[in-house]
Amino acid sequence: MRVLLISDIHANLEALEACVAAFPAYDEVANLGDIVGYGASPNDVVERVRDLGGIFVRGNHDRASAGLSDVSEFNPIAGFAAVWTRNELTAENRAWVADLPKGPRHCTELPKVLFAHGSPQDEDEYILNEPTARGSLMHTDAHVTFFGHTHVQGVIGLNENKVHTLRPEFPDKRKYGSWKVDLDPNTRYLVNPGSIGQPRDADWRAAFALYESDPESVTFFRVPYDIDVAQQRIIGAGLPERLAFRLREGR
Ligand code: ZN
Repeated sequence: MRVLLISDIHANLEALEACVAAFPAYDEVANLGDIVGYGASPNDVVERVRDLGGIFVRGNHDRASAGLSDVSEFNPIAGFAAVWTRNELTAENRAWVADLPKGPRHCTELPKVLFAHGSPQDEDEYILNEPTARGSLMHTDAHVTFFGHTHVQGVIGLNENKVHTLRPEFPDKRKYGSWKVDLDPNTRYLVNPGSIGQPRDADWRAAFALYESDPESVTFFRVPYDIDVAQQRIIGAGLPERLAFRLREGR
């Protein structure tokens, strides 16, 4: 089974469309949340991911943008964008975002695989270092947990009590790239496909991944997109300029 992993689109339509055009063949989609928030195209992006379908997990920005939580835990720019998104979404799309299920989630065909936004125990937790990763890996018995939220592409493995991190390597940061890693049946993994709409790993290209279950592997992808249009839309919408500039910086 081939599962396409998409996460943290953040209402960036140009990045999403470039990824859709580059998707390899797949059997199922898993969307790890933060579909909206920050970017200027929340309705178009919601409608596009509804068409793609699959397994959904809500993100903290989806929750705030749907009005299910207030924005007091966000920095001022993120909070402004969440309130802007709440007002921009159509009633139907806002209701759809509000109904997104909280993670972690399973799919019946892959009982040892888990899908989460932050960590399996907390949708708001950032798995950014190995001690946090170890805590998450101890929390479940899943063989592979896919997560988002940090916007950083990569693999963290736990084998014989040792934690190790792998980051994809791409020779040219201006072009399309893919990087495949085979998974070891005796290692347990946390895998982040990266962010489609607002990468934070110093690489501006949109990120996603493909999981193959037999034999097990993950392929990471980076896709250039029309970042100028995405930036112009953010500025044109009256969203903070910082949200446009950070796209180019990949942070
Ligand atoms: Zn996010």
